[in-house]
Amino acid sequence: MLNRSRLVLATQRATLAQSRSVSALDTKSDSFAFGLMQGEVNATHMFPFPGIERLDEEQRENLEMMVDPTDSFFTDSVDPLHNDQIADVPEDVMQMMKDLGLFGLQVPEELEGIGLNNTQYARMTEIVGKHDLGIGIVIGAHQSIGFKAILILGNDEQKAKYLPDVATGRKMAAFALTEPGSGSDAASVKTRAVPSEDGKTYYLSGGKVWISNGGFADIFTVYCKVPVVQDDGTTKDKMAAFIVERDFGGVTNGPPEKKMGIKCSNTAEVYFDNTPVPVENMILDVGDGFKVAMEVLNNGRFGMAAALSGTQKQLIHRAADFAANRKQFTDKIQEYGAIQEKLARLSANHYATESIAYLVSQAMDAKATNYHLEAAIGKIFASEMAWLCADETIQTMGGMGFMYEQGVEKVMRDLRIFRIFEGTNDILRLMIALQSIQVLGKMISANKMMAVKANVGTKLGMTLVGNAGGKLGALADGALSSEAKSVEEAINRFHASSVNLVVKHQKKIIQQQFALKRVADCMIDLYTASACISRATAAVTQQKENADLEVQLAKIYINEALARVNESIRQIEGDSDHHKRMASVGKQVAEANGVIHSHPLGF
Ligand SMILES: Cc1cc2nc3c(=O)[nH]c(=O)nc-3n(C[C@H](O)[C@H](O)[C@H](O)COP(=O)(O)OP(=O)(O)OC[C@H]3O[C@@H](n4cnc5c(N)ncnc54)[C@H](O)[C@@H]3O)c2cc1C
Repeated sequence: MLNRSRLVLATQRATLAQSRSVSALDTKSDSFAFGLMQGEVNATHMFPFPGIERLDEEQRENLEMMVDPTDSFFTDSVDPLHNDQIADVPEDVMQMMKDLGLFGLQVPEELEGIGLNNTQYARMTEIVGKHDLGIGIVIGAHQSIGFKAILILGNDEQKAKYLPDVATGRKMAAFALTEPGSGSDAASVKTRAVPSEDGKTYYLSGGKVWISNGGFADIFTVYCKVPVVQDDGTTKDKMAAFIVERDFGGVTNGPPEKKMGIKCSNTAEVYFDNTPVPVENMILDVGDGFKVAMEVLNNGRFGMAAALSGTQKQLIHRAADFAANRKQFTDKIQEYGAIQEKLARLSANHYATESIAYLVSQAMDAKATNYHLEAAIGKIFASEMAWLCADETIQTMGGMGFMYEQGVEKVMRDLRIFRIFEGTNDILRLMIALQSIQVLGKMISANKMMAVKANVGTKLGMTLVGNAGGKLGALADGALSSEAKSVEEAINRFHASSVNLVVKHQKKIIQQQFALKRVADCMIDLYTASACISRATAAVTQQKENADLEVQLAKIYINEALARVNESIRQIEGDSDHHKRMASVGKQVAEANGVIHSHPLGF
């Protein structure tokens, strides 16, 4: 078991290392999420809400040409329950997906891909998420993370050599980071690549676990340590990323893992035994391996929000369909408030998920410098809302939802992993909170009055800091002015409580995980609430047919999100006894290897 100081160190590595790996954040960042803790409303990538007008005519046409055929292909040719049962994707289905171009959606056309931007990719991913999340992982492990490093960070030679084969699916790719001792703490990998004497080849040895597509991939991006001789003659291990071909030799894999969901995707251990890798296959430089891994994950996360938006939409359709047809007691169950509440909440949550999925993809297309906090929020939020959606869909369907043939319990099993991989939601929450706090700390140092005002304001029960006042209201449609005002006030209160928190704990803030979780929760809810204001405002401005309905959905979502924000702020400001108690009991349970209370009967 980790002792306390090792645990703190692990936390620091897992979170601050991630902070260092992304484009430097500063107080002038135009990221909306990032501005929240500073009490700012950075409207650039939030207003106006991006619609179809953000794609040019050709992009629109290309996307339209793909959406219906892809949806029909999944409806007609893919049997998710069959894939679940055989724990595989039939060869002919794989071939059809390759023919449709689904394995190289973002690879430029000149390198045999489809050349989609992030918004177009999001729309395509939504279709996959609607039909079969297992297949989504086969496709995603290949292009969202497997060869993504080559696509976004590779040099021209690497792109020319590898992208045509992977874009067409002639070769399959995988992302090999996780090891038995290195999960969330990704910088602690033990796999090593040792350079040959002539410096032309690295010899790679080590073992990776749970690698999606690992059982059949031809190309791996592998994250490992490389020994580097320092100026003082000592050797230090630095992280590097390599493109490794199975054909290089010494690459083997274990059998497919048996797992809870996404069963048709292959998950396997992958071993490298003195595998010779040419030096030109290193992505970026020695020492950049962690940065490469994090940029790939940051870049790929937006796709998860889009995919899980598709999943939620399909689940809501199932729940609504059942509610409209099932009669119990006197009426169809859709007439009962308990069912209406579920359908309304799920729809509002989906509205928020869909909104942030397209805000993030649009921010990436607009070359926003910092979009990784938003992408992390998208991943956390979409995976949690989709889980809730599956749970409530099953509840709406009663016993029928529990039946295998209905295919909904399969979706729930598939969904569980999304809160775990590509950065657990818990670690991403720490990252979101700590990255924002790092910059807030600098602001407080530069402006001592900020701390004084935040403290006095909290004591007086009023907010004296934060610049959000009036900003959202000026951008929102009048129908949402009350919500916009409430979100502004919540942003300013969140800013004040964050300042107080940072002043109270200073550098030790990193150990305050109870508070940090709630800080991240506030940011998630404030970002998603603002996204709903932006989208519903656009609907009204554009006089969309269902604009009223969008306003209603936004109101429902914001009302519930603000209640959560209020509770989170209350806990950040004043629940230290509760949190201390939880920490103490949690630790005792861990040390006792189980529950610490005695049985009511005594045995
Ligand atoms: C089906 C499947 C497919 C996968 N595909 C791939 C793949 O293609 N490529 C790849 O490289 N990896 C892959 N993974 C690995 C996945 O990314 C890891 O499981 C994930 O990063 C979490 O690591 P872990 O499982 O070791 O959990 P751990 O890191 O052991 O974490 C266990 C728990 O402790 C929490 N925790 C850890 N550290 C801290 C801390 N400092 N503070 C607070 N809480 C903490 C975590 O949030 C989590 O709840 C896959 C995993 C699965 C199950």
